[in-house]
Amino acid sequence: MSNHNPQDALRRLQGLQRAGIQYLMGREFCRPEELQKPSTLVSPQGRIAGERARTTVPMSSLPKLPEVPQLRPVLPTEPTIPPKIELKRIQSSALPGDPAEVLALLDREVKGCTACDVLVKNRTQTVFGSGNPRARLVFMGEAPGADEDRIGVPFVGRAGQLLERILDACGLKRDDVYILNALKCRPPNNRTPEPTEVEACRGFFEEQLNVIQPEFICCLGLVAATALLQNKTSLSAMRGRLHPWRSSKVVVTYHPAYLLRNPAAKKMTWEDLQFLMREMGFEIPNSSVE
Ligand code: SF4
Repeated sequence: MSNHNPQDALRRLQGLQRAGIQYLMGREFCRPEELQKPSTLVSPQGRIAGERARTTVPMSSLPKLPEVPQLRPVLPTEPTIPPKIELKRIQSSALPGDPAEVLALLDREVKGCTACDVLVKNRTQTVFGSGNPRARLVFMGEAPGADEDRIGVPFVGRAGQLLERILDACGLKRDDVYILNALKCRPPNNRTPEPTEVEACRGFFEEQLNVIQPEFICCLGLVAATALLQNKTSLSAMRGRLHPWRSSKVVVTYHPAYLLRNPAAKKMTWEDLQFLMREMGFEIPNSSVE
């Protein structure tokens, strides 16, 4: 006898009903009289495609009874939970999805930070960072200088002007990238940041990078490279290769302030930038940094 014989299916259904069974998988199955006409069932695909996926199933194609449990009721789809952005120092409930807004919240927290006594007494204001919050490339320096402390923007003094010339030689503008420092407060007399100060500020610069999620980070100088990569290697040993940091690739070169004191190092910096541009898939201009 064929598996799709209607009389056989009818007898099986009647037998189940006589046994008091009316539901399979939480869904009432057809009354026997409904087997006399084409039935409307929800196919497994109907759960996904919605009401339009309802299909008319002719009698001849009804599955045999043991397969009926495969027919499942239409269930509401699970709500989509947006990915959570992890910020250590901000209540997650206050987080919007726009990186510019998240950075603005983080900036507000930096402004109120008093973790480093000496720096807090010395600073005019905190210097958070500036540029494109969705940049592929972030430049990371060491700490604000006198001009940055006065204006509140990183790399605006002579070193900043040289950085802009480097960007220009690469065919980039300031707004194409994001620029930040490891420290958000100026050390007295532009001294080198203390390791304890770098550690105190680590939560801030790491969260900035977490929010921006750049593909590439260019560390300007040994302090920035050591702060980010947390190794003890010399700058010359770190140059010329990619270092992993979370999902970003890090390139290390000289700080523009060092180039102002040692113009001979500009050639090596330009080689580092050419390497970076190649890795980013950019055309490499035939210019140099003056
Ligand atoms: Fe806070 Fe960073 Fe400034 Fe220290 S350097 S006071 S951790 S913002």
